[in-house]
Amino acid sequence: MLKAVLVIGDGMADRPLKELNWKTPLETAHKPSLNHVAKTGISGIIDPISPGIPPGSDTATLALLGYNPLKTYSGRGPLEALGSNIEISRGDVALRCNFATVDENLVILNRRAGRIENEDGSKLAASLRKVKLKESDVDFLFKNTVQHRAVLVLHGSKLSPSVSDSDPGKAGMKILEAKPLDKSEEAERTAIILNELTCKFHEVLKKHPVNIERTKHGKLPANAILCRGAGVVPNVTSLKEIYDVDAVCVAATSLVRGACKAAGMKLVDVKGATGTPQTDFIAKARTAVQMLKQNDFVLLHVKAPDVASHDGNIRQKIEVIEKIDKMVGYILENVNLEETVLAVTSDHTTSSFTGNHEGDPVPVVISGFGVRIDGVESFGERECARGGLHRIRGMDLMPILMSLLGRTKKFGF
Ligand code: ZN
Ligand code: ZN
Repeated sequence: MLKAVLVIGDGMADRPLKELNWKTPLETAHKPSLNHVAKTGISGIIDPISPGIPPGSDTATLALLGYNPLKTYSGRGPLEALGSNIEISRGDVALRCNFATVDENLVILNRRAGRIENEDGSKLAASLRKVKLKESDVDFLFKNTVQHRAVLVLHGSKLSPSVSDSDPGKAGMKILEAKPLDKSEEAERTAIILNELTCKFHEVLKKHPVNIERTKHGKLPANAILCRGAGVVPNVTSLKEIYDVDAVCVAATSLVRGACKAAGMKLVDVKGATGTPQTDFIAKARTAVQMLKQNDFVLLHVKAPDVASHDGNIRQKIEVIEKIDKMVGYILENVNLEETVLAVTSDHTTSSFTGNHEGDPVPVVISGFGVRIDGVESFGERECARGGLHRIRGMDLMPILMSLLGRTKKFGF
């Protein structure tokens, strides 16, 4: 049976830049392996969501896994929770949270509590978990993930994700009251619970020994929790059920891991994989190749190009693209393309000029047994646009890959 690897360079696609003589970082980078995939494959461009719509990494990943993002996306919080190995079931409401520093009037001084260390975050989170809610039929889980980041999961009956954020998104503003976003009893109840937690969390945090110690050492106290992005687990059918494939996700970013977990994929942890430009690219490639032995589909995601683009660091973006090229080189050396389909794409365009995700299409290439090789010889935004795949939607990629694997079902007789 054929197998498939999908390599996703997060935010790898870009717009032409003046600094690069109006070429993109991908067009500028030295990338013999990516070009080899283009030469031996079929190329095209993808609108991750639809033309002109700037995608988030969450909606784009769901799309690249074959789901209609407009129908399945149900918020960032639950994906973040799933990706951080937090169990969350249907009916639970999950939110992304930040440890923050506020003054006595609950005005935010720092949204990240000075990027609080993981150890301090863990101690504070342990105390927050002891808070008791008035409503006895609802319980909650609060877990810190990395630095100031945390996840809150509400579990119980009659909850709703239709609540507004308590996080105003910037310093200098007061913590917001969470409000119901519809007229349902559930939304109202959920908002009340969230506001109760905001108050109780602040009471615990402001006198917590960890924060007293932080203040003594001139560090910002993490004396409040800001919440945003309420959502429920997306209601999607697993890849196993749709295509009968055992699928694995090699990614460090919790949001991408969460989307993969929602699709029923196994998550693997790679030593040295950090979700930053300093990640161990080859360790990830090695893990992907190993995973392919026992599984049918491996998604290999690298966050680094997106980080460089948000920082407007063109040089670094080119460097990480060249490292992704070496990673793809490792895969080419270690898998047999007569037995494996290899695809490379990006989840969205991130402009190094604007520092934002943009709605431009991204390049894609598929190489392996059965593909109709076209004349494209280089992997880039403009070169791939000349290829035989033409212009497809994000959600079209997975059926195309699975059809090459012989895993799609006939429609009609
Ligand atoms: Zn992304
Ligand atoms: Zn981004």
